Amino acid sequence: MSHIGCTIKTLPQESQDLAASKAVEFNPANAPALHALKASMPGAVIQPQHLTALTTKYWGAKGVKLTVGFLDNPPADLRARIITHMNAWGSWSNVQFFETSVDPQVRIARTAGSGYWSYLGTDVLLIPPDEATMNLDSFTMNTADSEFYRVVRHETGHTLGFPHEHMRQEIISRIDQDKAIAYFGTTQGWSKQQVIDQVLTPLDSSALLATAEADIHSIMCYWLPASIMKDGVAVDGGADIDALDAQFAGTLYPRSVSPTSIWPNGKAYFFKGAQYDRYDPKADKVDPGYPKPIQGNWPGFPAGFEAGVNAAVVWGNGKVYFFKGSQYIRYDIVADKVDAGYPKPIKGNWPGLWADKIDAGVVWPNGKAYFFKGSKYIRYDIATDKADAGYPRAIQGSWPGFPSSFTTGINAAVVWDNGKAYFFKGSEYIRYDIANNKTDAGYPKPIKGNWPGLWEKNIDA
Ligand SMILES: [Zn+2]
Repeated sequence: MSHIGCTIKTLPQESQDLAASKAVEFNPANAPALHALKASMPGAVIQPQHLTALTTKYWGAKGVKLTVGFLDNPPADLRARIITHMNAWGSWSNVQFFETSVDPQVRIARTAGSGYWSYLGTDVLLIPPDEATMNLDSFTMNTADSEFYRVVRHETGHTLGFPHEHMRQEIISRIDQDKAIAYFGTTQGWSKQQVIDQVLTPLDSSALLATAEADIHSIMCYWLPASIMKDGVAVDGGADIDALDAQFAGTLYPRSVSPTSIWPNGKAYFFKGAQYDRYDPKADKVDPGYPKPIQGNWPGFPAGFEAGVNAAVVWGNGKVYFFKGSQYIRYDIVADKVDAGYPKPIKGNWPGLWADKIDAGVVWPNGKAYFFKGSKYIRYDIATDKADAGYPRAIQGSWPGFPSSFTTGINAAVVWDNGKAYFFKGSEYIRYDIANNKTDAGYPKPIKGNWPGLWEKNIDA
């Protein structure tokens, strides 16, 4: 594995007080204490396992909206590609980056030999305007696509205020210090002091918004080889924003809506046979020009998925999972294509889920996903990435108000941003109230006449 280590740039000591005041300016409650941060985010639920953030670098609960510029005049396609990956953080959190050539707040250089680095959170605003705040060493359009996911999204995480996940005490205590100093000295050319600063110094837990376990699959976690670990077990590190990262970013920088089946572009997608419909929930109808063929419109869809997908589930991490038979694919919403390495078998990758022929799946606002097959359903926990104990269970008796025809199986399910879920079966649908946890009165109703432009029966997903 060719590996360029990432360093977090820190301000010179004399600027530290200024940094603290800048952080306070952005967020009056900003102080190096968890309770202060929580106090600034009333109602926020801090999950027990997640990515960390330094409270002193936090942009504030109103979100992050920053302009981005480039210091070395890269071509337009490369600029757009980098900004697309930066905005992957904004799929479900209130984070937006816009390119500008005038006084950009985030300034990206590609200086060779300088490595990958970024300043942390609000420190970005204290850097002189002619200096970079982020370096993407030698990035070009020929750089491997996986590096855009791994490096650009990681460095952008620093800009959002997220330090390295591997700097948490529980991971550092597993590292053999002498071996680490030798390893990073050889592979990165770092001095002993640099290794101590970048890899071996635990984050001050009093300044962290974090509890419990570190997430070794976080995009903010380094890959650490088994050879430098006391227990001989490598730390995998993250290659992309994972579900916990996305969930935590959404907690720190919340959007007004929780994840739904509606994509960030405001549309929902339905599938039947070899076609798909794009539905506009605001206009409450299928967009003009649909249905269209799946083939040719969904980059990276393997041949088997171009007709008859079983389920399409919009996840909270900016991904959509499509299931077909015993396989599934992962679609990246901002990159607008199937991620590399798919399809994969369901078996072995979705602990506790059925290995094939799922009927439908949907993410609920409670951090769970529900999957349906025949007369049964499974509740899947997104944070721990496995089915909850005690499932599958019968639909009948568990979903108040479901008509009997729906308890034997459903075709498709979506969650809208109005607090309602919709379940489809044959030529009918029902509306389910999420807060009241029961089917609304007056259902089922026919699809025909109530979903303008949508197929009238037997939707696949
Ligand atoms: Zn880093």
